[in-house]
Amino acid sequence: SEPILDVADLYVSFQTRNGEVQAVRGVNFTLNKGETLAIVGESGCGKSVTAQSIMRLIPEPPGKIKQGSIKLKGNDLTTYTEKQMRKVRGSDIGMIFQDPMTSLNPVLTIGEQISESLLKNPNLTKSEVEEKVIKILKLVGIANPKERLKQYPHQFSGGMRQRIMIAMALVNEPQVLIADEPTTALDVTIQAQIIDLFKDIQKRTGIAIILITHDLGLVAQIADRINVMYAGRVIESGQVKEIFYHPQHPYTKGLLKSVPRLNDDRNQPLIPIHGTPPDLLSPPKGCPFAKRCDYAMDVCIQYDPESTQVTKNHSVRCWLQDERAKKIQFPSDGPK
Ligand code: SF4
Ligand code: MG
Repeated sequence: SEPILDVADLYVSFQTRNGEVQAVRGVNFTLNKGETLAIVGESGCGKSVTAQSIMRLIPEPPGKIKQGSIKLKGNDLTTYTEKQMRKVRGSDIGMIFQDPMTSLNPVLTIGEQISESLLKNPNLTKSEVEEKVIKILKLVGIANPKERLKQYPHQFSGGMRQRIMIAMALVNEPQVLIADEPTTALDVTIQAQIIDLFKDIQKRTGIAIILITHDLGLVAQIADRINVMYAGRVIESGQVKEIFYHPQHPYTKGLLKSVPRLNDDRNQPLIPIHGTPPDLLSPPKGCPFAKRCDYAMDVCIQYDPESTQVTKNHSVRCWLQDERAKKIQFPSDGPK
């Protein structure tokens, strides 16, 4: 597998009246060509901030990338100017955000909206632009593209509008697509169609996808690998099957138990995870999940677990999986 995007030791903070919120705290991951990596976790875990940081879309200030690198084919995007980033957005990395910022303009035809970025390319003639728009509308499954490109957003259903957003994200043939909760606003049938569309596009174009979602059912259907985020960190990472069948982190186990669609044993109740994530204005010095964890030990309160390799493609940040936990001496046990 060939890496296309590499995020290393990423720290992102937001300045607030009350102090610095450490939204992303040392995130590491690699995205390979043609794969789908899901980033999952509760709201506020840092998954959207991670995505927005890759696109350099966090407002600076109050946001700031404090540390780390985001390498796209070896080039560190954290060093790019806004002008360089504008080229990256759309042409190298496409995005679909649930954000109104990227929603469709009601007074422009969808053809005008999809072709907007293409028209900036001086090497394309008007008819070449129209050809590309038709081709991309076909790719996202919109019938009669020639007629439909003259229509306005209100003439399309919600699912079709999401297809148009996907078309806009893909029209410049990026190698990476970032989709932040792409189906959250859609009903279940349309969700399934959009998922099939992602799979189909990936098969045809080899695009790598980062899917940001809180929906583990969705992840099961489309992702190759999963990063589980908690309190600004990736706390477990692995192949979908490993995470679903052999989760190691108590938080991941809790997440899986709280998903109705994955819980096929009807006698087993759905168990929500009790408690709330820590305040990232002052993250705890130990494991950020300790307050909610039924397995928390002394070591968890005192020391932050590091990433431990479970298998070749599966890692977790939890003292339960770290052999060194037994050997750690506590300050209260005697002199340092
Ligand atoms: Fe629970 Fe400790 Fe593992 Fe944190 S490190 S998840 S508190 S067992
Ligand atoms: Mg979000």
